[in-house]
Amino acid sequence: MNKSNIEWTEITWNPTTGCTKVSTGCKNCYAERWANMQHKRGINQYRNGFELTLATERLNDPLKWKKPQIVFVNSMSDLFHDKVETEYVKKVFSVMNNTPQHTYQILTKRIERVKELSDNIFWSDNIWLGVSVENNEFVERIEMLKKIPAKIKFISFEPLLGDIKYNDFTDIDWVLIGGESGGKARKFEKEWIISIRNNCKKHNTAFFFKQWGKRIFNPNQKDPTIDKKHPFHAKGGCMVDNEIYREYPNIE
Ligand code: SF4
Repeated sequence: MNKSNIEWTEITWNPTTGCTKVSTGCKNCYAERWANMQHKRGINQYRNGFELTLATERLNDPLKWKKPQIVFVNSMSDLFHDKVETEYVKKVFSVMNNTPQHTYQILTKRIERVKELSDNIFWSDNIWLGVSVENNEFVERIEMLKKIPAKIKFISFEPLLGDIKYNDFTDIDWVLIGGESGGKARKFEKEWIISIRNNCKKHNTAFFFKQWGKRIFNPNQKDPTIDKKHPFHAKGGCMVDNEIYREYPNIE
């Protein structure tokens, strides 16, 4: 198991690695940089670099974890990539179905494929499904997500690249927001956050603000969470109007 630095999960599990870019949000994909680095270091799981690869040796890992964990599935890939055969997706679901002590967070940009497979997989209550949405061009992913019978549905607006006009968060349990980080990070504005936060309040949707991404995007240069020693430190800080938002969905 890999302990994660990602603020909204505990560990990552990658039964596949590699991916293909599908939309603007993928431009500076961290998984691609990581895969290329690991490939250069000769790590077997990344023998094909960023090409989609089944990590069959990792498939049964959760069966060995006794302690209940919150698991981000495929932090370095997309489970619903068209090169992941249906039979393999079913195997991944079977592992999740058979380990109810864990909570699984699956995040995808390929919600059309989820729709295709959805009737042939079992959505046990411990599986959360989320879509990544970077701007208004891709808000349709949210509409498709709403039709999938996952118990907890969430949206990751990361990297958020524009003001989101879509405002119907009915049946959305959780919203995550993050600004892009790294040398090529694209701009991120406070108004975009406020608009989504207000919409979450209106729909009783849990709201988690992960990071500004870069210090220059944060309007409060004195935000204490910019400091690496702060218990809620995040890239560029994570306070909005002096508040930290780290809510989780209600799973009762
Ligand atoms: S879908 Fe995710 S993992 Fe795949 S290329 Fe885009 S950002 Fe990277």
